[in-house]
Amino acid sequence: MAEKQEKNQALEEKTTFNIDKEKDFSNWFSEILKTAELADLRYNIKGFLVYQPWSVLCMEEMARLFEKALQRKGHKPYWFPVMIPEKNFHLEKEHVEGFAPEVFWVTETGDGSKLEEKFALRPTSETAFYQMFSLWIRSYKDLPFKTYQRANVFRYETRATRPFLRIREIHWIEGHCAFKSLEDSMKQVHEDMETTQELLHDAFGIPHIFFQRPQWDKFAGAVNTYAADALMPDGRMLQLPSTHCLGQNFSKPFNVKFVDENSQEQFAYLTCYGPAFDRIFAACIITHGDNKGLRFPFEISPLQVVIVPINFEKESKVLKKALELKERLLELNYRVEIDGSEKRPGEKFYFWEMKGVPLRIEIGPKELKAKELLVFRRDLEKKEKVKEKSLLEFVEKKGKEITKNLRETADKKFKDIILDAKTVEEAKKLLGEKKIVRASFCSTGLESAKCAEAIEKDLGAKVRGTRVDLKEKPFSNCLVCGKAAKEVVYIAFEY
Ligand SMILES: [Zn+2]
Repeated sequence: MAEKQEKNQALEEKTTFNIDKEKDFSNWFSEILKTAELADLRYNIKGFLVYQPWSVLCMEEMARLFEKALQRKGHKPYWFPVMIPEKNFHLEKEHVEGFAPEVFWVTETGDGSKLEEKFALRPTSETAFYQMFSLWIRSYKDLPFKTYQRANVFRYETRATRPFLRIREIHWIEGHCAFKSLEDSMKQVHEDMETTQELLHDAFGIPHIFFQRPQWDKFAGAVNTYAADALMPDGRMLQLPSTHCLGQNFSKPFNVKFVDENSQEQFAYLTCYGPAFDRIFAACIITHGDNKGLRFPFEISPLQVVIVPINFEKESKVLKKALELKERLLELNYRVEIDGSEKRPGEKFYFWEMKGVPLRIEIGPKELKAKELLVFRRDLEKKEKVKEKSLLEFVEKKGKEITKNLRETADKKFKDIILDAKTVEEAKKLLGEKKIVRASFCSTGLESAKCAEAIEKDLGAKVRGTRVDLKEKPFSNCLVCGKAAKEVVYIAFEY
């Protein structure tokens, strides 16, 4: 008997995920990908992932919420071709220079003949959308013209690839819009930032800062680039959605014109926005995961409720009750499953905790008799008794609480992580302690690119830009050149 128990215990330990996320983050990340079956890395093209159901289900929910928000704000969905003719790229000089090294070109057909012109597998679709905008937009009455597509884009990433974080096929939404004035287009940039805040922070619980990128670090072809940076436990920043003010840089070469109220022809002002779900998903699991595995905000969890029947082999009524509860939850559109496998309850508990399912319902003969259930909350690791008849209200209420709790926990951690530095030495010390550095900087114009290069060379860190939500006053001279500072910037390592 004792021997059997020992054997069981060994089995249980094997199924327990236990890695210190803070101390051993890199290992945590690579192990959770395998253990929770998020992506299979064995596909035989480097930098391309096979996404497994647990990540697909969550990323689908994320995409659904983004699409809903964009449509609510007046964007119309499109599906554009995956191929873009080479000549489209060459119309905007900075854009082609920025993207050319990363493009996969399609140059020949199956019978070995060369195509008359090369096609790019889209690395991003400005040059596809704006070519059509020039056909569709005629008058100021057509503006604003707000579109988006959910698509995958391809980039030949030359640096070492890393699952979800740096890959060669990216799953995203790209929004493309046209306006009659620069002012209107800037309103769109702000709307994109609000959308990011609503979803990334409020719904997915990922704290981030929105920066205006310095002039030397813009999207190729943009007037200005704005991007949300999230902070990871190893002290690095991860760029999440970015939104770009393109001015008339693309509308001129692509001939996106409209006739204004005074019958004058004008070039439109364009913007683009790109939330990538691979990175948002990674940020989400990294932000909320703990040493036992994953934790998900309720709304985007691949599975929201798992029902574990106890001793149901002896008592078929237990299984019947579990099925009945599942049906009731399904009717309200919850994602719910019963774990009726032959594993022992303890093993099932560890497994679903590692997978991050927010709520687990346990039901056995005892609960059946008392008409109650035991419900376990993954975020707090607490069990409570719930009357069977109040289960649905309970799930709805706790779902909201779980998301809120994860979000507040993440926010709290993020707050203490930004510290000021007045010298490069101080910055270096703080970066070593996995902090984000706030520093006074000469400027974010091209004339200060040298100071940023020095930071990159000496510290290996990057100047992320200036905050969009706050206008901050410099508190010292530029930490690099010592000249009078015009801006306050943030400095961090990046992914
Ligand atoms: Zn400087």
